[in-house]
Amino acid sequence: MSYVDEVFEMVVEKNPAQPEFHQAVKEVLDSLRIVIEENEEAYRKDALLERLVTPERQLLFRVPWVDDKGQVHVNNAFRVQFNSAIGPYKGGLRLHPSVNLGIIKFLGFEQIFKNSLTGLPIGGGKGGSDFDPKGKSDREVMAFCQSFMTELNKYIGADTDVPAGDIGTGAREIGYMFGQYKRIRGVYEGVLTGKGLSYGGSLARTEATGYGLLYLTEEMLKCNGHDIAGKTVAVSGSGNVAIYATQKAQQLGAKVVTVSDSTGWIYDPEGIDVALLKEVKEVKRARLTEYAANRPSAEYHEGKGVWTVKVDIALPCATQNELHLEDAKALVANGVIAVAEGANMPTTLEATEYLLENGVLFAPGKAANAGGVATSALEMSQNSERLSWSFEEVDSKLKGIMVNIFHNMDDAAKKYGKEGNYVVGANIAGFLKVVDAMTAQGIV
Ligand code: NDP
Repeated sequence: MSYVDEVFEMVVEKNPAQPEFHQAVKEVLDSLRIVIEENEEAYRKDALLERLVTPERQLLFRVPWVDDKGQVHVNNAFRVQFNSAIGPYKGGLRLHPSVNLGIIKFLGFEQIFKNSLTGLPIGGGKGGSDFDPKGKSDREVMAFCQSFMTELNKYIGADTDVPAGDIGTGAREIGYMFGQYKRIRGVYEGVLTGKGLSYGGSLARTEATGYGLLYLTEEMLKCNGHDIAGKTVAVSGSGNVAIYATQKAQQLGAKVVTVSDSTGWIYDPEGIDVALLKEVKEVKRARLTEYAANRPSAEYHEGKGVWTVKVDIALPCATQNELHLEDAKALVANGVIAVAEGANMPTTLEATEYLLENGVLFAPGKAANAGGVATSALEMSQNSERLSWSFEEVDSKLKGIMVNIFHNMDDAAKKYGKEGNYVVGANIAGFLKVVDAMTAQGIV
């Protein structure tokens, strides 16, 4: 059996009931076969793949907190410090009832390669809890965040592990966590990113993942002979990534006609009204029915359906495994040119294969949504310098990073005879840098 297959079998055996983690490892290892087989003997001797798929440290802890009625609740919380070969652990904190160790491990594993691709000195990690901030009062969210940080603060630091936001963790949650860290540790340092502008946050961080997704998509289209202006786009989700992806797509001259949330979706043939979407989602924290009620051109549909609309470009920006094989078939039948992942692993393995086989340009999340973590790393640089850069400066650095990521994955795909396969290209480009650093640092 090949080394890749052996290690994948070991991952499934040693990490039972973690299907998302298995899926992420399979996608990465399969696309690394060419590189691994070239160096099989040396990698096997150093147990390189075993070390790569095993987190350096996994923290599991309970978070007790008291609700507004005096009732005590207990949530499970996680921080997986996956790989620190190229820099301090870096990756977001997800707060969603679906969170479990397998999901955090899949996200942490992906983060290693994503962070490497940015070209910045950041290692891979991820964390979160099965706490659901939805429907909770601000005081309840604060109680949770303070209790969560009371434990987590022991294991993180500006040069050790620098968490950030993710699903359910926005500016409010980061603020409460930062306050508690500072209070317990007595240091004012850039231990979290995604902070508010008045206490060390970076301009353009809020927009970064969505904007970065569009910068990379624009470059991918350009290098394949297409212009983004005039294209029709389907976006899923209506959170941080989806909102700013929609905004930038429209600034670049494309028309976004869909958004969604966990209960339904909007079709708006006139183009999504971003100001209204922000009002509904960022200010009122309401459902998309509220958008439809205030926009005569919009249709609201219950359930799933954004991928059935005829579009040129699809941008899944909600969550993992939200674009299945039947969705890929519908997109291809409708003539889609490109799919770029704003979310982490939103496309199933079968759907990805189908899109690639049918000549659709496909940008994997670890490259396409790396703008968020890249700008987080720029926030760390500003905190270390004790300076703040202008919006334009951060945005132009972000654009440069995204264009660079596209060319790195494009070049790696070409070098290994897989031209146009950006899944393979992104994994190889991310992997080679990490492996080089791991090898140089010895068996640790
Ligand atoms: P938000 O919490 O701001 O938004 C998430 C959106 O996806 C919401 O519209 C939410 O709907 C929807 N959603 C979440 N879970 C589900 C589900 N199980 N089924 C259907 N819809 C769902 O998160 P972000 O925008 O920050 O993150 C979106 C994705 O992008 C995630 O995969 C995240 O890991 C990834 N990402 C985020 C980065 C960032 O900087 N924020 C950076 C890189 C990747 P509802 O409101 O109804 O729950």
